[in-house]
Amino acid sequence: MKGKCLCGKIEIETETTTELGLCHCAMCRRWSGGPMFAVHAGSNVTISGDTIKRYDSSEWAERAFCTHCGTHLFYYLKPNNEYVLTAGLFQDQDFNLSNEIFIDEKPTYYSFSNQTEKLTGQQVFELYTGKE
Ligand SMILES: [Zn+2]
Ligand SMILES: [Zn+2]
Repeated sequence: MKGKCLCGKIEIETETTTELGLCHCAMCRRWSGGPMFAVHAGSNVTISGDTIKRYDSSEWAERAFCTHCGTHLFYYLKPNNEYVLTAGLFQDQDFNLSNEIFIDEKPTYYSFSNQTEKLTGQQVFELYTGKE
């Protein structure tokens, strides 16, 4: 599936998926203004365009945005070479919201009615350390 930023200077292509996650962590909410709708794309991602800025948001991850229009593009997990793309890039794709992570950091002023698997931050870290 193909996606693009608001101004169209950045195009991102990856394998088609309907799986969608939601991250409520404080960093995602500060970054996006709300929770991040996340498409786990693995490492099979093709990015074209030169208005991309990658920012080290932690020792193990980068976040990237288009320097022309400011669209948030992805979260990149360095040790796993794994891209988590923002769902808003893919306007033609129908997604199924299946999981919510960092549910313990979700503010009380919103909640989603979708039936999802919910994980706390601690459970997410345990999943990742189990993988390494
Ligand atoms: Zn742009
Ligand atoms: Zn997050």
